[in-house]
Amino acid sequence: MTQLASIASTPATRAAPYDLEGLRAQFPILGLRIGDAPLAYLDNGASSQMPQPVIDRLVHYQRAEHANIHRGVHYLSETATAAFEGARRKVQRFLNAAEECEIIFTRGTTDALNLVMHGFGRAYIGEGDEIIVSTLEHHSNIVPWQMLCQERGCHLRVIPCNDRGELLLEAYAELLGPRTRLVAITHVSNALGSISPLREVIDLAHARGVPVLVDGAQAVAHIPVDVQALDCDFYCFSGHKLYGPTGIGVLYGKAALLEKMQPYQGGGDMILSVSFEKTIYNVIPHKFEAGTPPIAAAIGLGAAIDFVTGVGIERAADWEATLLDYATEQLSQLPGVRLVGTAQHKASVLSFVLAGVHPHDVGTVLNEAGVAVRTGHHCAQPVMQRFGLPATVRASFALYNRLDEVDQLVGGLQRVARLFA
Ligand code: PMP
Repeated sequence: MTQLASIASTPATRAAPYDLEGLRAQFPILGLRIGDAPLAYLDNGASSQMPQPVIDRLVHYQRAEHANIHRGVHYLSETATAAFEGARRKVQRFLNAAEECEIIFTRGTTDALNLVMHGFGRAYIGEGDEIIVSTLEHHSNIVPWQMLCQERGCHLRVIPCNDRGELLLEAYAELLGPRTRLVAITHVSNALGSISPLREVIDLAHARGVPVLVDGAQAVAHIPVDVQALDCDFYCFSGHKLYGPTGIGVLYGKAALLEKMQPYQGGGDMILSVSFEKTIYNVIPHKFEAGTPPIAAAIGLGAAIDFVTGVGIERAADWEATLLDYATEQLSQLPGVRLVGTAQHKASVLSFVLAGVHPHDVGTVLNEAGVAVRTGHHCAQPVMQRFGLPATVRASFALYNRLDEVDQLVGGLQRVARLFA
């Protein structure tokens, strides 16, 4: 492989639009050392870290508020219910949803997408119908639709992308047809960071009366989202990529659509009454929340939303753009590095390969330098196929990252080059 030249480290001149060190101090895990090196956590696309206020909120719930919700008349049950429903209102405000009942708590993005597949897909998509997805999708926004296609005899249509990783709108316009029943598209690609042109995608679909589902897993922590302004029909995300806990996610759906959908799972809490003759389902959102939900995680997500809105998504995005620009500039100067995904509009993700070295080996050596990155196909194998690669190395940024962590990444890559020369 090519020997990486030593590149001059650009002095970190730009400052974050907030007190970065004070903010970092709120994330205890960022103080870890990996062997001799400080941790440079650049795997935020997989999961971001939790700040102390979120950890404290979870602990407080467990110590002083825990009980099952919606059914008890005692103090703890009422307290837990109020906190859980309060978290729903926080999500509603965060997404600017018109109504609280449009926010359904799920286990995560995957669960939300499967809910739409079962509740909407199975009810309204039949033989010969078409579902449009894009080349950039995560497997969780491909496989449920393929399952539906197998079951119902409908077809998947795929929006292609160019060599920069940008979706081709002309091709999309041609895919939309009389049999299109749903467009299911990512807001931000987890493998490349490309931001989808949602305005155009949604307007074109709506002109034909086709609903649009947006996978916002990689977007909500980096782009302000207003579901009413977007006018999307469904929007989903996961708590653990938004400085919150695992095991919790959100499906937003327009009330009129949710009302018409079938429940995803049957059980407690999703019913108004049950007899062996007839069961009457509960109102939305409860119709889609069968069984005991992840109560603590939902409350933790509410605290994460408070935290992130306290910082400001716009200000976070501004700083993350600086980090991404700096990393792009630095890595572009490294011989042997090929950046994968160079879209004009990108958020927080830098994917690359290093000539002659498998991404897993790159990741292993980077780990020795304290740098946490993701290597592999990122659960987006069709994108990898589009670029003729089995895998990439992915650095993904969050509001707490520093420019010198990019330098640490570059130093680690120079070490990879020396080892594999
Ligand atoms: N969609 C995208 C774009 C993602 O990045 C991810 C997580 N990598 C998912 C969906 C699935 O999210 P989860 O595993 O939290 O359900």
